[in-house]
Amino acid sequence: MLSHVEVTARVAVTPATHFVWSNRLDFTHDCLVCLRVGRLMQLRHGMPYGLCTGNEHPAPIRVSAFDATDHGTERRLRCRITSWWAPFNDLMEPDVQASELAAQPWVRLNYRVGCHICRDNGVSGWLGIEGDLTSGAGQVTSSCPRCETELVTASGPPEINLAC
Ligand SMILES: [Zn+2]
Ligand SMILES: [Zn+2]
Repeated sequence: MLSHVEVTARVAVTPATHFVWSNRLDFTHDCLVCLRVGRLMQLRHGMPYGLCTGNEHPAPIRVSAFDATDHGTERRLRCRITSWWAPFNDLMEPDVQASELAAQPWVRLNYRVGCHICRDNGVSGWLGIEGDLTSGAGQVTSSCPRCETELVTASGPPEINLAC
């Protein structure tokens, strides 16, 4: 059956920040192909299938919607992960049943940041700062590695919910 999960995240940026969400994300999923629970899937918006990092096989899971929006100083991301799912028991641990949403849902969202202060000062590589937002993380503030201007503050981890 088709299953949908919605991942939402928000960060706050400063006027010095150039901010772009990456279209790549990592997501924990009970994999119907290799019949293992809690596999890490590499997903990319625009790619029609995911990659299960268990043994790097294609898996019927993809990012079916990816909406980045700006609300004042907030940068929000809402993405929908669609997969083909059916009940199974883990191949190595037969007592463990797969579920539509992994027992411990986990996601990593990536972003790229630039520093306008460095750009205006002609510093090369002002755009090359990468960061991520991960389940389990608390409040995180990222600053420019060159001029130490505050750029991004995440006040909490992404939310993961089953959607209909
Ligand atoms: Zn797999
Ligand atoms: Zn800077």
